[in-house]
Amino acid sequence: MEIRSLYSMKFPREIVLGRGLVGKVADYVSAYGFERPVYVVGSFTSSLVKGEKILVHTPKKEYLDTLSVEGDLIVGVGGGKNLDSAKYLSYRTGIPYALVPTLPSSDGIASPAISLLTETGRASFLHVPPVFILLDFDVLASSPKKYALAGYGDVVAKYSSVYDWWLGHKRTGEYFGYLTSRLMAFAFRHVVNWRSRLFTPEGIHVLLESLILSGGGIGIQGSSRPASGSEHLISHALDMLRIRNGEKPGLHGIQVGISTVFTSYLQGRNWKMVRRILHEAGHPTTLEEMGVDEDLYADAVLLAPSLRNRYTILNEVELDRKKVKEILQEVGMV
Ligand SMILES: [Zn+2]
Repeated sequence: MEIRSLYSMKFPREIVLGRGLVGKVADYVSAYGFERPVYVVGSFTSSLVKGEKILVHTPKKEYLDTLSVEGDLIVGVGGGKNLDSAKYLSYRTGIPYALVPTLPSSDGIASPAISLLTETGRASFLHVPPVFILLDFDVLASSPKKYALAGYGDVVAKYSSVYDWWLGHKRTGEYFGYLTSRLMAFAFRHVVNWRSRLFTPEGIHVLLESLILSGGGIGIQGSSRPASGSEHLISHALDMLRIRNGEKPGLHGIQVGISTVFTSYLQGRNWKMVRRILHEAGHPTTLEEMGVDEDLYADAVLLAPSLRNRYTILNEVELDRKKVKEILQEVGMV
């Protein structure tokens, strides 16, 4: 094990998981000494909070760069788009932030990583963790099932992302953190054990705990590296291509979940297990179920390694369109 000369772990000050928390946001804001909160909301979450609000029309970086923010705390309320927008506005202005997620759809609910669409593609930033996170169980558990499945897919994706990280360590000598890799593995096992009961209150509770661990692991590691490997690169490439085609991007967690079947095949690992645990939770396993055709997916796979300077299994395999299609057949994704 390698010891770094400096290891700075960053944690949120408080993560609260409970009932009726959305109605208590203002109490938490003032308990932490803030007086002028600005709520970053979408059209679905605007009515949940009272006070100064920024309504996010699109989570694109260029749009967010035009917004001026006045206040002493930015509070993101909603799904991934609102949370990423709030994080980015905080990153840009230096105003601290808090998160009130309303969908259990990705580990972004507890992570300091920011992923934004831009006019030309996608931009990633690493910010500090929020002051507090309020996870209102009533709101999160009553969201449509596809969001919990997406959250599940984002945790299952750690099977592939941690391996890619280890591979990067072996091949390029980049730092590999054992503590964070164990946290990710635990988050994975924790929710996978509940896969057949994911939609019970206990199952949703476990899912939220796993998402907190995974998102928090990014703050502990100081990088999204542990949580985002080849399966995330393919999903980011898919988003870019779908936007270019004038389509709406799909749910992040579902795309990375399904792509984990593909990347674990490339990694020479147990892709059948991945497919089975997705299926047993009710998570999609085919391209058709996520509304993507074979050619578009092949384009995304071929584009993915160029998106980010991050070593993954995609740097080690020779792929062309024909080969990608053969693999998709073999792993049952088409
Ligand atoms: Zn993710």
